[in-house]
Amino acid sequence: MFFNGLTPAPEKCCGCSACVQICPKQAISWSKNDEGFNYPTVDPDKCIECGLCEKVCPMQHPDEVLPHRIGDAFGAVNLNSEELKASSSGGVFSAIADYVFGQGGIIYGAAFDKDFQLGHIGISSQQDLSLLQGSKYIQSQNRDVYKKIRTNLIQGKLVYYVGTGCQVAGLKLFLRKHYDNLITSDILCHGTPPQEVFDVVIKDLENRYNGKVATYKFRDKRVWGWSCSSSATIKKNNTLKYVGFDPILDGYFNAFIKADNYRESCYVCPFAQSKRSGDITLADFWGVEKYLPQLNARAGVSAIFINTAKGKEIINKISANLALYPAQLKDIQVINKTLVAPTPRPQARDVFFNRFQENPSAVLKSYSRLTSKKHLVYLLKKNPFTSSLITLLKKIVHK
Ligand SMILES: Cc1cc2nc3c(=O)[nH]c(=O)nc-3n(C[C@H](O)[C@H](O)[C@H](O)COP(=O)(O)OP(=O)(O)OC[C@H]3O[C@@H](n4cnc5c(N)ncnc54)[C@H](O)[C@@H]3O)c2cc1C
Repeated sequence: MFFNGLTPAPEKCCGCSACVQICPKQAISWSKNDEGFNYPTVDPDKCIECGLCEKVCPMQHPDEVLPHRIGDAFGAVNLNSEELKASSSGGVFSAIADYVFGQGGIIYGAAFDKDFQLGHIGISSQQDLSLLQGSKYIQSQNRDVYKKIRTNLIQGKLVYYVGTGCQVAGLKLFLRKHYDNLITSDILCHGTPPQEVFDVVIKDLENRYNGKVATYKFRDKRVWGWSCSSSATIKKNNTLKYVGFDPILDGYFNAFIKADNYRESCYVCPFAQSKRSGDITLADFWGVEKYLPQLNARAGVSAIFINTAKGKEIINKISANLALYPAQLKDIQVINKTLVAPTPRPQARDVFFNRFQENPSAVLKSYSRLTSKKHLVYLLKKNPFTSSLITLLKKIVHK
């Protein structure tokens, strides 16, 4: 049994659940650790030591599912403006999904349930696309989707699976067989926090506005365009209130960006490199204005890598729906460091989880960057009243 004891060491398990799903004796169960991350536990009475759990573990066998060096890189924008608006970056995911819907296929990706618990689901109707669109900065639970995908593939359905590099790798190892009717995209990922931390955001919002959170978007283009600003709508007395969050003030987002609350395996992620587990890698093309100045980047631009012949075939098929611009890997790497190495483990990670257990809301609040003088100036400049006052004062001073 490769588990060291009954549960693997935290940094050795990415939480993809391939081992839980493959076990022929249902001897492996999930349970949360103190930080809120799910880990598998083996029941020794049920285990027959067949070794399948070890064979399908992406942390144990990354090289088996990383055959692909990054291929051609492109800046890409979905030409459907509604889909582009609903997506985090350039909406390439939606363009591929449209193609798969057209073939009668099934798309698997991360969606919230009514209680804002994030898990992978399969959809076969275009009407459900919005459930999957958009990045959610939480670890998504795979539940039993690998098993469902295997059934779909055997039935001859076209399947498109999108997940983090480790989740795509977990799927491929779980299947242990090549399927022509499977398309995969790995999203360029720098790490995932546990569901528990996000639960606090929802609870705090509901307390603050005395209503029920109806929607939450981690990346909302409505106010600041392609950026990292989040938003929620709160339902109270049958009316919906829109609340936009300034990224500077958003404690959840800042803790995420600082990498202080990721799963331990994220800091040693074998998939954070230039070999990729998916047919097509999806990312944000931050800084694109510098490298592809001909592009209007306001509504979002994806960076994509085409890693396999299958990936190339799909992008060729949907190319009429995308604006595609050849790009350089080195330009995309400037900001996306996880194309080179995993996110370093910050010392503050231990502090985050210790404090989180004592007072979760206060910890998230402490990541709001309003405290520094620099950001107070930023806020004053952003406020329409104070910014006009500053402009007026500048004019007076210059006269
Ligand atoms: C946790 C996380 C970290 C990321 N880190 C980076 C980064 O460092 N650099 C970078 O360039 N891009 C990063 N991205 C990817 C980026 O934000 C976009 O998701 C990606 O560019 C695809 O955008 P899109 O416009 O094509 O489509 P979107 O509609 O925005 O794509 C959504 C797709 O992502 C999937 N997805 C959403 N949340 C999750 C999740 N938690 N787990 C698994 N799958 C999910 C959905 O199922 C859907 O298929 C990250 C995304 C996530 C979820």
